[in-house]
Amino acid sequence: MTKKELLRGLPKIDEVLKQESLVVLSEEKGDLMVTEAVRSVIAGLRASILDLSDKKAEEFDASALEIEAVAEAAEAKVLRDEELNLYPLINATGTILHTNLGRAPLCRDAVENVARVSRGYSDLEYNVPKGKRGSRHDLVSELIAELTGAEDAMVVNNNAAATMIVLASMGAGKEIVVSRGELVEIGGAFRIPDIMMQSGAYLQEVGTSNKTKASDYENAIITKEQAEDAMYGMDPRGGMRFETGALMKVHKSNYDIVGFTEEASLEELVEIGKKHDLPVIFDMGNGLMLDMSAYGLNEPNIPASLATGIDVMLFSGDKLLGGPQAGIIVGKKKYIKAMKKHPLARAMRVDKMTFAALEATLMKYRDPKVALRDIPVLNMIAASGEDMRAKAERLADAIKRVNPALSLELVPVEDQIGGGSAPMVRLPGWAVSVKDGMKSADRTERKLRKAEVPVVARINEDRLLLCVRTIAEDKLETVAEALRK
Ligand SMILES: *Cc1c(COP(=O)(O)O)cnc(C)c1O
Repeated sequence: MTKKELLRGLPKIDEVLKQESLVVLSEEKGDLMVTEAVRSVIAGLRASILDLSDKKAEEFDASALEIEAVAEAAEAKVLRDEELNLYPLINATGTILHTNLGRAPLCRDAVENVARVSRGYSDLEYNVPKGKRGSRHDLVSELIAELTGAEDAMVVNNNAAATMIVLASMGAGKEIVVSRGELVEIGGAFRIPDIMMQSGAYLQEVGTSNKTKASDYENAIITKEQAEDAMYGMDPRGGMRFETGALMKVHKSNYDIVGFTEEASLEELVEIGKKHDLPVIFDMGNGLMLDMSAYGLNEPNIPASLATGIDVMLFSGDKLLGGPQAGIIVGKKKYIKAMKKHPLARAMRVDKMTFAALEATLMKYRDPKVALRDIPVLNMIAASGEDMRAKAERLADAIKRVNPALSLELVPVEDQIGGGSAPMVRLPGWAVSVKDGMKSADRTERKLRKAEVPVVARINEDRLLLCVRTIAEDKLETVAEALRK
């Protein structure tokens, strides 16, 4: 056909919209979207016809101009446009808390509670028995108190926000004493000295990179009177000084200092704090609730840290706690109460979905056995090497069934906690190494990422590894499916 004939053959929008499939689709998605898709498909066809040479026009497959074909293309476009940018994928890296992959997966009850609470109205800020306004902070503070021994609790957006409000509320215009070995960067723009500056508190660094003694903290403490004297040059260290507001310990979440080292313990800081009537703050970061040393995780946990007598402690909700993104502040009532009234509290508050997920997650900790069984992060940490090997065998079997041509091998690997937590811990795990003929590991890795449910794998020394620790049992078949020929 000539170009003119082809152009004349283009269907009218109205004709296409009469197709049964599009009538049904319009009812579901709205006619605006469907009409726009038909218009766009027809415009695309017109543009490509106009682009053709006369010779190419002769060869053009005119069946693409049929009403049914245009309707089908429009339907596909509507469905494509509906694809969400945030979607689930499979983490086969063996790193449990992968910040790029959304950190902690939620437990089933947390997810169900989010759906239950957020579909309709809830008592987020309404005290139902009393029939009057309530506080969202009260939703979880009793449960947190029961689980940790804290007097009070407050939930904000993440631990970075928690650090900000703790410092702003307890340290604005005052000095906060922190060890030089603990001035951490957590990733992105979160650096303790920068947050300190934003909060209006003044960082008073003590000790050295490798060694900070308890006495270093004590020697840095100054009273209001001493600070005022310092302004007139009476302080031997010189410079502008402010009264000490608090002592602060920051957990070395994502690094370790080894060799000739020393750091002050929480107990020592609490003792100094008591002596000078100063609060002690602990940014513990990871939110570990249970003693997991049996699984190689020698990290401080929340109840044990609080038991030292520290005044305020803060941690993330989506690291080792295994809940939603949140920053949780626990400790003495007088400090937490002041934070709840701070102007920043409103800017940092979390919504009902976070509370719903958090409460259901925390509930699991009433019995550590239940927490270990039901909270995915803990469950993955506790999984033994033998469990991992058996799971790797099941994955290899599933892959063999869909694509017998691949060469598979079971290999031992070292899995990690990740998410800036416990950097030195290596969990003995197992992986399936996949080789697709002469194809490179990079090519197979790309294929896995492009699967219907993308699989993010690990590449180690040009070997493609599917680490099974972070693959849920009911997703083994999905991973295999991604390797179908
Ligand atoms: C992870 C971490 C933070 C930041 O927490 P987010 O929840 O990512 O905002 C702050 N301090 C410490 C010690 C941490 O480990």
